[in-house]
Amino acid sequence: MIDLKPYNTFGVSVKTPHLITVESKKALIEALRLHPNALILGKGSNILFTKDLQQPVIVIANQGITTENWENNLVKVTAAAGESWDDLVQYALSLDLCGLENLSLIPSSVGAAPIQNIGAYGVEQNQFFESCLALDCSNLTWVQFSKEECQFGYRNSFFKNEGKGRFIIWEVSYVLPSKAAELNITYAPLKNYFEEHPEIQPTPKKIAELVIAIRKSKLPDPSKLGNAGSFFKNPVIEEELALQLRREFSDLPTYPASDGVKVAAGWLIEKAGFKGYFNGDAGVHEKQALVLVNKGGASGKEIANLSVQIQKKVFDQFRIRLEPEVTIL
Ligand SMILES: Cc1cc2nc3c(=O)[nH]c(=O)nc-3n(C[C@H](O)[C@H](O)[C@H](O)COP(=O)(O)OP(=O)(O)OC[C@H]3O[C@@H](n4cnc5c(N)ncnc54)[C@H](O)[C@@H]3O)c2cc1C
Repeated sequence: MIDLKPYNTFGVSVKTPHLITVESKKALIEALRLHPNALILGKGSNILFTKDLQQPVIVIANQGITTENWENNLVKVTAAAGESWDDLVQYALSLDLCGLENLSLIPSSVGAAPIQNIGAYGVEQNQFFESCLALDCSNLTWVQFSKEECQFGYRNSFFKNEGKGRFIIWEVSYVLPSKAAELNITYAPLKNYFEEHPEIQPTPKKIAELVIAIRKSKLPDPSKLGNAGSFFKNPVIEEELALQLRREFSDLPTYPASDGVKVAAGWLIEKAGFKGYFNGDAGVHEKQALVLVNKGGASGKEIANLSVQIQKKVFDQFRIRLEPEVTIL
C-alpha cells in the first residue's frame, strides 16, 4: 500500500494499493488498460481524501511547453498537463507574454486548470484558453476540446459536469498577447498599489510580483500548513435573499453575478465564528476563513466533518448553502 500524504496539499495520510506516474501518452493508455477505474491526480491541491482508496492512482506527470506565433501579436503557448501551473505562468512572463500574471503561484497542474477553471485576482484561465487535448477513457481515443466545448463558468466546466471522470486532460493551449494590452488591475489591492505609486507602470511582471506577495501574506504555504486553498465556492444567491440579508448585515460583501448575487464565503464563515477555530489539528486559517487547514495530524474525515459543521452553521445563520470547491473523496 502506498501513502498519498506527499501527493495531496492537505497532507492527509491515506493509502492506495498502487500508484503509477505517467509521462507519455503510451504509458497513460497502458496504465488505463490495466487500471480502468484509476483515480487521476495532478498536484493534489484541490482534493481531500477521507479514506483509503480501493483503486490505484495515476499521477499525470508529462512535461513540456511549446510556443507558436498566432495572429496579431498573439502567441499560442501549449503546455503538458503535468507541468506546474506556476512554471507556465513564469515561462509566459519570461517571454513578455501577458494574461496569466494574476494567476501566479496557484499550486495547480496545467491539466487540472481547465477542470475548475482556476481564477484569482480578477482573472480566470478561460479568458486566454484556446483548446485542450484529452483522452476519452471510455474508448481510449484522443479528443481536442475547443473553448466553447469546455463550457467554462465560475470554478466550473464541462469536465466537472457531463465530462466528469471520462476525460483526462493531456495538454492545454493558451493564446497570450505579446503586448501588455490586457492587464487587469481591478482587484482592489492591485488598483490601490498603482494609485499610490503613480511612478510605477503596471507591467505583467510587476503584477505577478504583487500577486505573489499578496498570496504569500494571506494564504498558508501548503508545505508548512496543509490546505487546499479556498475550501468553498463563493455562493451565488437570489437578489431577494441578498436584499433581506443586507438589511440584517449592512457589511455583507456582495458582487454582481450573471445568475444572481455573489457573496464572499469567507465573510460568512468568519461571521459564523469559525475564523481561527480548531478542533484538534483540523481548523480554519486565522487570516482567511475560507481556507481549512491541517496542522499536521488531522485526518481527511476530521477536516470533512469540520466543513459540514461550517456549512450547517452558515445555513442556520444566513440561509445560504456553501458548496465545496474541493473534491472530497
Ligand atoms: C494554497 C492554495 C491556493 C490556491 N489558490 C487557488 C486560486 O487562487 N484559484 C483557484 O482556482 N484555485 C486555487 N487553488 C486550488 C487548486 O490549486 C486548483 O483547483 C488546481 O486546479 C488543482 O490542480 P491539481 O493539479 O492540484 O489538481 P488535483 O487536486 O490533483 O485534482 C483535482 C481534480 O481534478 C482531477 N484531475 C487532475 N488532473 C487531471 C487531468 N489532467 N485530467 C483530468 N482530471 C484531472 C482530479 O481527479 C481531481 O478530481 C489553491 C490551492 C492551494 C493549496
